[in-house]
Amino acid sequence: MKIAFVAHDSKKKLMENLCIAYRHILLKHEIYATGTTGELIKTACSIPVHQYLSGKLGGEHQLGAQIGHNDIDLVIFLRDPIRPASYEPDINSVLKLCDIHNIPLASNLSTAEILLRSLDRGDLDFRNSK
Ligand code: PGA
Repeated sequence: MKIAFVAHDSKKKLMENLCIAYRHILLKHEIYATGTTGELIKTACSIPVHQYLSGKLGGEHQLGAQIGHNDIDLVIFLRDPIRPASYEPDINSVLKLCDIHNIPLASNLSTAEILLRSLDRGDLDFRNSK
């Protein structure tokens, strides 16, 4: 399955720790991420990551295009709900595209953990028949 990751700056450490904790699951899947988030995951976990451009240079639009083609199976977008930087991508366009294609999206740590465990149990296998 194809998993996409985006983390606003204030959530990047959290994303790094999440990916380290679930590395054994991520290893079995194809990982996509916006530029800086992807670099962090690659370095922290030593796993291959398809890196889009950085969020501020349009990486979330590249992700959006792939989701628009129903070509991503799970999105983990850890956003700063209180004080996102002005250049950080907004979750809404990604969320809309996920809702169009019935793609699961986590916007916080607890949902991300639930979805990664569900993925590993096979609960997201319905995505194989898309
Ligand atoms: P980044 O993009 O991973 O390149 O930082 C996401 C963001 O800007 O929040």
